[in-house]
Amino acid sequence: MSSLRADLEAAARIGADEHGGISRFAWTSELAQANAWLMERLAELGVEVELDPAGNVLGRWESGEGTAVLIGSHLDTVPSGGRYDGALGVVAAVDVVRRLKAEGVEPRRPVWVVSFNDEEGARFQTGMLGSRAFCGECDLADWRGRGVPEAMVEAGRDFAALPRAGRVQEVGAFLELHIEQGPVLERLGVDLGVVTAITGILGFRARFLGEANHAGTTPMEHRRDALVGAARAVLALRDAARARDDMTANVGVIAAEPGGFNVVPGAAEFTIDVRSPSPRRFGELEPFVRETLTAIADEEGLGLELAETHRKSPVELDAGLQDVLEEAAREEGATTLRMPSGAGHDAMVLAHHVPAAMLFVPSRGGVSHSPDEHTAADHCELGASVLARAVRRLVT
Ligand SMILES: [Zn+2]
Repeated sequence: MSSLRADLEAAARIGADEHGGISRFAWTSELAQANAWLMERLAELGVEVELDPAGNVLGRWESGEGTAVLIGSHLDTVPSGGRYDGALGVVAAVDVVRRLKAEGVEPRRPVWVVSFNDEEGARFQTGMLGSRAFCGECDLADWRGRGVPEAMVEAGRDFAALPRAGRVQEVGAFLELHIEQGPVLERLGVDLGVVTAITGILGFRARFLGEANHAGTTPMEHRRDALVGAARAVLALRDAARARDDMTANVGVIAAEPGGFNVVPGAAEFTIDVRSPSPRRFGELEPFVRETLTAIADEEGLGLELAETHRKSPVELDAGLQDVLEEAAREEGATTLRMPSGAGHDAMVLAHHVPAAMLFVPSRGGVSHSPDEHTAADHCELGASVLARAVRRLVT
């Protein structure tokens, strides 16, 4: 068994839950155990190891001079998640150092391995807390309101020290290997994805206000049915996203009030998640959603409340590093596809500060955030080999 495969299997045993999945959340004993395991692997390779003030594991191979090439991903998971999301990128980064050391490479600049804390944000609904702190983007007021300080105290850590995790200025490039978490590579039979951009995400809470009334005695033409408005919105968003190749739309939560089988819904509240990796399209999303819902409200005689709940702009990844990854893949005999990422990643935080790039390996059936998440062993090995080749290019 290869070292990479053995490491993946060892990591998968930590935080394994009764559903067959893996649960490792920020500042829990499960993630602490995974971090300790990683720090042992890094120490074995003779690099300097630390758990930084934000709970990120950093392995610093201090060699040569100048800014570091940072490689890695995350070891935290969603509830009952899979064994590849995040973990593959971390063990692959360890593997890169192992390979370069075995080859006797003496880097002309430092090579750092990272496992960012709390990428998934499962415990506090935060998301990318570790990479944001690493990049000096601490949102202490928000994190305080989500129970982060209490959890940190319980884990013996200091909330006030979080800003001291900021050291992105010592980094010159970031590379992250990750599973695709979608079906595109598998369907096309392509080995690897070179990520061009990470999608922008816009979230809303919408509420149509109609009139609750008797389901039998109110004539159809006189109803102000809020759920009909919401249903029309679901379809309008779906149809708009289907008509474009750079947009997705999802309504994932919906509730009708008062909620009686014989009552015309007087109110309907629902969430909207719209995304685009294209900055131009992303800029059109907010007015599009607002105009679409306003038109439906007018036609159905409904009131409308629409509030933006979250916004993350799309990020384009570094063109030079994309070329390095593509060239490295070609040299390994791998086929590649340039593609956007529909999911958020630590790389989108790093990309605002340093040149960053991502390499995707196929996800079987496009499944992720599930115990059924799977990537073929050959693809894991290939991804790590290409990453090693790209890092070698950047440091020799
Ligand atoms: Zn991930």
